[in-house]
Amino acid sequence: MAKLTLDDLNVNGKRVLVRVDFNVPLSENADGERTVSDDTRIRAALPTIRTILERGGHPILMSHLGRPNGVPDPRFSLAPVARHLQTVLGHPVVFAGAGADVPATADSVPENGVLLLENTRFFPGEKKDDDALAAEWAALADVFVDDAFGSAHRAHASTVGVTRHIGQSAMGYLLQRENDFLSRVLEAPERPFVAILGGAKVSDKIGVIENLLGRVDHLLIGGAMSYTFLRSLGHEVGTSLLETDRLDVARSLMERAGGKIILPSDHVAAGTFDNDAPSHTVSVSIPAGEMGLDIGTDTLERYRRLLLDARTIIWNGPMGVFEMPNFAKGTFSIAETLAEATDGGALTIVGGGDSVAAINLSGYQARISHISTGGGAMLEFLEGKVLPGIAALSDR
Ligand code: AMP
Repeated sequence: MAKLTLDDLNVNGKRVLVRVDFNVPLSENADGERTVSDDTRIRAALPTIRTILERGGHPILMSHLGRPNGVPDPRFSLAPVARHLQTVLGHPVVFAGAGADVPATADSVPENGVLLLENTRFFPGEKKDDDALAAEWAALADVFVDDAFGSAHRAHASTVGVTRHIGQSAMGYLLQRENDFLSRVLEAPERPFVAILGGAKVSDKIGVIENLLGRVDHLLIGGAMSYTFLRSLGHEVGTSLLETDRLDVARSLMERAGGKIILPSDHVAAGTFDNDAPSHTVSVSIPAGEMGLDIGTDTLERYRRLLLDARTIIWNGPMGVFEMPNFAKGTFSIAETLAEATDGGALTIVGGGDSVAAINLSGYQARISHISTGGGAMLEFLEGKVLPGIAALSDR
């Protein structure tokens, strides 16, 4: 069922409660002041906030930040986010800190200003989707806009609860964009459609692999999860990260995949988990006492050919221990290949904290069709689940 979007709402003269994802990394400067160290998520919400302001609406923003466990904790305050937002937005931002009289603070916001509420996770009722808390938030506004894709897989008071107590609930532009891109690749991908999955654990990605197998032409595997697959086929993997309790699942996925799952044919291996450990390239089996820490050049070449041939690509999860420069080549080469594939006309989608960080570090972000702001939310979407934060919004 199609959901209302921001463009369907009349926000003129209305207070608009907006759930954003301002869960950004903070760092402390020399004066002990906390500042935003990466504002990607703040900038991603600007189109929605600006549109509401331009159309005469009054945004009231809410977000979680970190894991404060249901109690106010200054380390997780959104105060630094309020200061940063005011700079990048160019409109006054009033912040309702812990203990503030929120309705009175809302009344004090200037005509062209924005109100930012304190961290939603300072309240124990947030994660429990507590009805009274949700009603309190909903009472601050006339309509609700959800623009927090990164939290759309959580049924919390600020994502789902508020929709039970407010007139209309709609998708913001960011949520709409994420929903459109991911729906498009699941429902009508241009072929060949190739998914590339990496990261530490097979267990996190079983649901995604199961749902994608019937849709993709190839599913390329990298990162530590490839050792569980290789071991399940009888290859030696030395001391590589292995999920022994997932060998049966890995084997059964390989059997059902009909050749669609493609595994590394060589690896960069070392004796210890250390950037400075002497390393060398080994073929598909890893010698005893060594661990695979990145995909090898032969694998890269095979994956590159399949990716450059694709018309649709989804990537989630690093190809190796990319935090260590000596084992980052596989991940960064894949980032470069995706940029080339996009230039060649492919639709490319990247998600998950590590893959997005690699794309940003490599400087290729402008050459990717869509960089998802959700890690867990993107994986659940790709598993074929209906995200509760989207399901709760008003139908068109
Ligand atoms: P995930 O959170 O499952 O996406 O996994 C990301 C983590 O997997 C990163 O911190 C990587 O360093 C790690 N990783 C990727 N490849 C390997 C590998 N071959 N051995 C150990 N850790 C790995």
